[in-house]
Parts: sequence; structure tokens; C-alpha cells
Amino acid sequence: MGMEHGERMSRRQVLAAGALTGAGLAGSTLWAPAKASAAAAPAIFYSPHQDDEALGLAGSILEHKAAGRPVYLVLVSKGENDGLAKKMNQDPCPLTIGDSRHPCAAGGHHGLSWPTDGTSMIVPARTAEFMASAKALGVDKVINFKLSDSPYNSDDNYYRFVDAVKAKIKALAKQYPGASHKFTAGWLEETDTHKALADAAYFLMNEGVLTDVRFNYVYAYDKPKAQRANGASYVLNIPSAHMAIKRKAIYCYNAWAPDRNLYALGYHSVPDKMESAHEDPREFVFTIPSRYTPGPIKHWTT
Ligand SMILES: [Zn+2]
Ligand SMILES: [Zn+2]
Repeated sequence: MGMEHGERMSRRQVLAAGALTGAGLAGSTLWAPAKASAAAAPAIFYSPHQDDEALGLAGSILEHKAAGRPVYLVLVSKGENDGLAKKMNQDPCPLTIGDSRHPCAAGGHHGLSWPTDGTSMIVPARTAEFMASAKALGVDKVINFKLSDSPYNSDDNYYRFVDAVKAKIKALAKQYPGASHKFTAGWLEETDTHKALADAAYFLMNEGVLTDVRFNYVYAYDKPKAQRANGASYVLNIPSAHMAIKRKAIYCYNAWAPDRNLYALGYHSVPDKMESAHEDPREFVFTIPSRYTPGPIKHWTT
């Protein structure tokens, strides 16, 4: 097929540069963020999980930095994930079984012995990838909400999570008057975590707490290229210099450097999203739909 060659080129680039990035990374816990300029109000970007910022916020982060805005990056959830530990415990890598489209940075062999509670090993390693990505993007501050990724199984759990996110965003809005707030377009995305975050933004806009609010559609890259911009208020065409930096952020999720707690977890979690975001130099910016409906994603109909 016509696409095959191009996709193979892209994978090789991801793997090669991922390895380089891993080799050059400082320990994420040692990184002290640069000082933000005191004058301008920050643009605050909220990444529901470790990886969303690299997939769909990076170009916008760089755009705001280039405009002279301080950029703060919030990691909302801890990113617990039990399926990911099970994948990492396999050898050969399940990404290569019956489908060699996605060789991982470990070369297709890991066979770790991680606990499958979804938390130990997974949360610190995913967060190490996130910190490396944040460093690559040059954000001025990282804020970690450390919320358990728990809006699942009942409406009570869902709204408890919405309320917890809301309280933390509200505190930031108070701390940084005039800030703009950038979320993901949770109503278009697949997970209740993303939807709950958009709900929190929606409620805070209605309460007048947030005024300058945008939503980047970070799961757009699952769709055919021609459909990704449908409904967007603004398509950011990422300049090539910024796209090179966005790709460095993506490579942090396919870097294998266990001594620095980097295990290519992002790539094992969403390999297709990583590849298509890497290929597409665009981001898709939405405003809140006029007929927005809060609640778990299963209730949303377009
Ligand atoms: Zn996510
Ligand atoms: Zn693997």
C-alpha cells in the first residue's frame, strides 16, 4: 500500500530520536524549571494524563511561548494503568506480536516483572516521561495535581473527580488572575477523565471563574487526516522549528533508559496516536459547544 513506506520512515525516526533523547535526558527529578517572566499572565495547559501534552498541546504551548507568554503545564491525573504493566511484563513486546508495525524503543524485548496494581512503577515512570517532555517543550512551570484517575464505574465517582479537578483549577485561577486556560476537547475524546476535565472547565466558565478558555482536540489524530479539523475554531499549523520540538517531546514517550525511569510507556499505551501526531504538523483548537452537556462520556451525543 502507498502508506506503508511513509509509515515505516516515521517509525524509524521515532525510534532513532527516542533513543537519542533517552541518552541525553537529565534525571527528571533534578530539573528546576526556568523562571517565568513576571509581567504577562500565564497560559495554563492541562494535560489529563502523561502523554496528552506531547500529542495535542505541544504546538500550542510553543506558540504561546513564542508570543512571550509564560506557560504552565498541569498534569491532572496520576495516570494509573494496570494494562500497561501487563504489556511491559511480556517478552516479546505485545506491540510486535502478529503486527510488526510498532517496534518499541526497547527493541521489542522487555519482560519486566512489574506489579500489576496499576500504580507502583507505572505512575512514577509515566511521570518521568511527562517531566522529560515538559523539559523538551521548555515550559516555565510544571504543576502536578496528583489526582487519582478515578472518574469511572459510577456517576458518583465521576462527579467526585469533576469536583476535585474544579477545586484545583479554581485555586490556580485565583492565584494567576488573567491567565488563559487550555484544556483538551474532552467531549470529543474517549475517556471520562478527559470529559470530566472539560466538564470542570464548563462549570467554571458558567460560574465566571474562567473566561479565556480553549480546548485542543488531542485525540484528533485517531481520525483520517481530512476529518481532524472538523468543527475546530482554529487550526494551528505548527511551524517546522516548533514541530521539531514537539517531536522531541513525543520521543520522550518512546525512550528506553531504565536508569532514568524511562520505559517507553507512552508509546506502549497509545502507539497509533503517537505515530499520527508525529506525522501531522497541526493542532485543532475548539471553543465550548453551545449545546454542551456535562456528564460521563457515554451520555454525550453529537
Ligand atoms: Zn489522556
Ligand atoms: Zn515494547
